Amino acid sequence: MKQSSILTIKKEKRLLLENYVRESLKSYHPLFACDSDAIYAMDLDGYFLPLNPACKEIFGYDSESFSKLSYMKVVKLEHLERAINMFYNSLEGKLQNFDCQIVYQSGELKDLNITYYPIVIKEEIVGLYGIAKDITEIKLKRKKLLQDIQHRENIYRDIVEHSPDAVVIAKDEQILFANDTAVQLVGAKDKQELIGRSVFEFLDASYFKVIKKRAKQVEAGTAVEFMDVELFHKNGTKIEVEVKAIPAIYQNEPARHIIIRDITEKKRTQKLLLQSEKLSVAGQLAAGIAHEIRNPLTSIKGFIQLMEADHTFNSNYLGIINSEVNRIELILSELLLLSKPQAMKFKKREMSNILEHVKALIDTQAILNNIEITIHYLTDIPEVYCDENQLKQMFINFLKNSVEAMPKGGKIEIEVKKMDEEHLEIRFIDEGCGISEGHLDRIGQPFFTTKENGTGLGLMISMQIVENHQGTIGISSSQTGTTISVKLPI
Ligand code: ADP
Ligand code: MG
Repeated sequence: MKQSSILTIKKEKRLLLENYVRESLKSYHPLFACDSDAIYAMDLDGYFLPLNPACKEIFGYDSESFSKLSYMKVVKLEHLERAINMFYNSLEGKLQNFDCQIVYQSGELKDLNITYYPIVIKEEIVGLYGIAKDITEIKLKRKKLLQDIQHRENIYRDIVEHSPDAVVIAKDEQILFANDTAVQLVGAKDKQELIGRSVFEFLDASYFKVIKKRAKQVEAGTAVEFMDVELFHKNGTKIEVEVKAIPAIYQNEPARHIIIRDITEKKRTQKLLLQSEKLSVAGQLAAGIAHEIRNPLTSIKGFIQLMEADHTFNSNYLGIINSEVNRIELILSELLLLSKPQAMKFKKREMSNILEHVKALIDTQAILNNIEITIHYLTDIPEVYCDENQLKQMFINFLKNSVEAMPKGGKIEIEVKKMDEEHLEIRFIDEGCGISEGHLDRIGQPFFTTKENGTGLGLMISMQIVENHQGTIGISSSQTGTTISVKLPI
């Protein structure tokens, strides 16, 4: 009884639907006809009523066979449950849109995007409208595109994996990827040990500010140049590296591709070179120093002999002896300091102090050459955070070059001034022979020298020292002299 009444209702509704479809075909036919999407109606059991020719195109059945089919017959088995859900959701009055695959009689598959919405007559849902769009091509293209991306990602990954440099991909603070070289560099067990960790775990807090600034720049799309930093190794030691970062896309998100190079070996060679150059400068200075020491020694000896002859104790003589001994001590200790190998030590230092010491040391040679060195402090000079010995070595290089460029004597001026709150400028101005234009380009290249006994290392090392201090150096020269300007951050 109940069964038959449901059937009757369904039949009534099917009739209503057929009528409705007929009517709409009359009024909408031209519009439907030229649409490339299949437009159809479905009764409450899911049987099709085609509304336009594209139905044949898309479902692969002629009008008559199509009318005898329900969607359950055409949807691919795996997608059936979903299609049924969509169908019943729509019968409850909701618009539905979903992708599914259908199977042709020939077995060929087609990807469709389907929209359902209810047909309501006299406040009752009598069936559904269906619109099916063929998206097989789009799906294929999308698949191909994904494959291409995957392929490119694989190539990128291969390049990165086999790179002799350590490579890390990071977003914000987090490490998303690391290659084997990176794992080895910091002594990690495997990649998993690095992934997910913060890049700041490997850095001293003093780097945080500058690294954050660089990261921001890269994430905004500009690469940043190599910069020296120290990384923490897993065993607690520090490794000297240089890092560069370029913008990258990782898993569809903007990220940073960070290249990390171990420069321990490079630094070691640099240190050796610095040391050998220091020794060579010290050796060259020694002659002048011997000369300079002989004078006070002569006067000391003279005063001692005087006192010995008089059998008296003369406090004036003793005062002079004392000051001469002090001068000898200063010169010798500077020479020792210069030749002693030393690790970089950054401390706050008085620039005037450094310059006076350097002057004392080089004066020995300057006086021999009839050269007068004067230091001018043009402003208040603040303390500078620096490695005192390196700065001394650099200043001696400049002054020695100036002295060597002035065989006929003359003046060397050293001007010191505070440029702004953060920078200090020191200028060395000589009256020497100058550097010819052709040579100016080669200044600072290792072993470039115009001197018979030159090493051609002085300026190269000086440039490294300025770089170690994050400063800059400028050289200008004419036939009447050379000016070297060094700008250092305070
Ligand atoms: P070295 O002094 O051993 O030759 P440097 O690196 O100190 O090596 O200098 C390289 C060259 O630069 C010198 O040989 C010289 O030709 C030129 N030079 C450097 N400073 C001066 C200067 N103040 N006046 C003239 N020439 C200079
Ligand atoms: Mg030199």
